Amino acid sequence: MNQIKEAYDIINECDSILIGAGAGLSAAAGLDVGINAVRNVMPEYEREYGITDMYRGSFYPFSSINESLAYWSKAFHYWRYEVEVFPLYSNLLELIGDKNYFVITTNGDGQFIRSGFDRERLFLIQGDHGDFACSRSCCDETYDAKPIFESMISHTVDFRVPDRYIPICPHCGSILMMRQRSGVRNLEIRPYLEEKKRYESFLRNVGDCVLLELGVGFDTPILIKYPFWQMSLENGWKYISVNLDKAVLPKDILDKTLYLQRPIDEVINEWLDLKR
Ligand SMILES: [Zn+2]
Repeated sequence: MNQIKEAYDIINECDSILIGAGAGLSAAAGLDVGINAVRNVMPEYEREYGITDMYRGSFYPFSSINESLAYWSKAFHYWRYEVEVFPLYSNLLELIGDKNYFVITTNGDGQFIRSGFDRERLFLIQGDHGDFACSRSCCDETYDAKPIFESMISHTVDFRVPDRYIPICPHCGSILMMRQRSGVRNLEIRPYLEEKKRYESFLRNVGDCVLLELGVGFDTPILIKYPFWQMSLENGWKYISVNLDKAVLPKDILDKTLYLQRPIDEVINEWLDLKR
């Protein structure tokens, strides 16, 4: 029996599934933040700063917060709101059907939310680029990023957001920043803690479960990959991983593991063909 079919049967027969998704899933879905995106969306940044990758550009050592915010608002607005909702995500949702599911993802690009996954079943462990929160974490409040980005984009002059258009926390006067894991510690506030609680409750109550890992690499394995290995080992859960990279696996769970070194979109489409 081929691996695709074997993995499909495991997924098809399970009642509960935990999906762990990394950057590889959005890349397979079609998210392009490379040179083509830079040239389409913000070519002035290639000319002025030599930026050729929108994501890496977000780590550029800009000389002021005004300059950083001008870049971030344009780049993050693009990949959180402007890119299409990728069919791969809705295909994944169709695949899991009415199973009891939960998703843990490092992707802050909003694709799970925009494609109709249940918001109550998502743990965005690296944050959501669609949220702003106080950079000093003085409170638990979050703010819809869309109008904030749009205001900054429309008021940017000479690659800088003027002081008066920098978003400010109404409670303490600090700058509002994207709620994500970064130098600013504003990620692990109420929305994050609530998601984490629901995630832990899912794990406590699930009984038997299949672990489906999609495009999770070794940038931050401590967030999804290692916990999945641990859960497979401790609970005897089947672990299915789809990834373009060569397999790196602990030998203790090899008998529970199916590793598909294939493009995720191809694999999910083949699974859907089997289902339909
Ligand atoms: Zn504040």
